[in-house]
Amino acid sequence: MNFLDKLEHPIYGIAGETADRLGVQAYAVGGVVRDIFLNRESKDIDIVVVGSGIELATAVASAISPNIHVNVYKNFGTAQFAYKDAVVEFVGARKESYRPDSRKPIVEDGTLEDDQNRRDFTINALAISLNGNTKGLLIDSFGGIKDIQDKIIRTPLDPDITFSDDPLRMMRAVRFATQLNFTILDRTFQAIQDNAKRLEIISKERIVDELNKILLSPTPSKGIILLEKSGLLAQFLPELLALKGVESIDGKKHKDNFFHTLEVVDKIRMVSNNIWLLWAALLHDIAKPRTKRYNPQVGWTFHGHEVLGARMADRIFKNLRLPVNEKLKYVKKLISLHLRPIALVEDQITDSAVRRLLFDAGDDIDDLMMLCEADVTSKNQRKVQLYLDNFAKVRVKLKEIEEKDRLRNWQPPISGELIMQTFGLSPSREVGIIKTAIREAILDGIIENDYNAAMELMLKEGEKLGLTLNNR
Ligand code: ATP
Ligand code: MG
Repeated sequence: MNFLDKLEHPIYGIAGETADRLGVQAYAVGGVVRDIFLNRESKDIDIVVVGSGIELATAVASAISPNIHVNVYKNFGTAQFAYKDAVVEFVGARKESYRPDSRKPIVEDGTLEDDQNRRDFTINALAISLNGNTKGLLIDSFGGIKDIQDKIIRTPLDPDITFSDDPLRMMRAVRFATQLNFTILDRTFQAIQDNAKRLEIISKERIVDELNKILLSPTPSKGIILLEKSGLLAQFLPELLALKGVESIDGKKHKDNFFHTLEVVDKIRMVSNNIWLLWAALLHDIAKPRTKRYNPQVGWTFHGHEVLGARMADRIFKNLRLPVNEKLKYVKKLISLHLRPIALVEDQITDSAVRRLLFDAGDDIDDLMMLCEADVTSKNQRKVQLYLDNFAKVRVKLKEIEEKDRLRNWQPPISGELIMQTFGLSPSREVGIIKTAIREAILDGIIENDYNAAMELMLKEGEKLGLTLNNR
């Protein structure tokens, strides 16, 4: 069978002709070949040549157009360029050998077989010849096609060697199993358990890249459970592991917060592909183990877990080299507010409580509501329905009040400047008191959210403070 027909991008034809002209042998390899058999879209194109990847890349680019810019990475012996919606990478076939004390392999030129030996999984070790008398032939040295059919993740060589050589592959095994809904072969999984500790030599950035791909998979819980069972999770996110387990006193149990969290993450993934919302879901109860108390009257409590949880997110983000910018701020905001809509439902959905929620959540109110709805995971369907109905009421009320009061991204109708000018003040405690009084009155619905009402209150508050008007 000629598999060249399956490679739709025009680069393959051009690369094959160019390789013939240079007298070298080239192959499509890796993800693109795998994805053909999975009927999956794939973006980046990897081409391996038995010879120089940089030479082939340069020749192919100039065969297409003199205007293509080729990025050359001499140290890695690779070169790439963008062409028709794809990044095409060329690399010389190589042989890698590892020493146990280093992550950096010794790299030599090699054959296609050497190159396939260093791939992570059988499903990623497929190649299609682009030229010569093997043109169009599929090379499947390790039974990758069968493993695709059987939905199996397996290393081409002894898994102990594959994982010890590059421990990131253990994260990749879990990631592919989750993305593709495949099973990691027992023998392979055993090797992950045995080598999990070696993940410590991998940079946090690369670990988090894989974790994010797991979170964005159709059912993230599958991957997180594999991370837990394999011992990998303990290496980079022990805080999440600490959520696992159920304690019981006087026959009163709390729920297992690890599995609860996974349920929430899965539910968020069904309605959103916002990675930061997924992180908020993953961490929303992260402080429960540290705030857990038992009270004979009311049972288990986790008072303040939303506040401590937001603080723990700081440490976790720093530790995992996640961005500590407005993304972290967003995650912390959602964690710290995640009980508010529930509290609102349990007390009373008053206008002023809704107004305060809108004020605190700002533009993230819709995401917060999604998180709260996903957070309802009771086994009791009646209870779940009751909560969801109540949240629907909150949503209606939020909309009403937003239309009336426009409190998202609220700006005070009267600025500190104007307060200072009116009373002839310099920046001082009094200015703050007046500003707070105006904000509180608006949030409580005592005055309207407009200039005139705020002006009137400002004058009254000034009088209370014994201030006089500035008559300049
Ligand atoms: P995706 O692009 O969807 O993440 P992919 O399989 O294309 O999946 P890449 O990271 O783009 O993954 O890598 C391309 C190919 O390079 C893989 O298919 C695999 O053959 C090989 N590869 C990547 N990383 C490793 C690794 N750590 N160890 C061994 N082989 C690897
Ligand atoms: Mg890829």
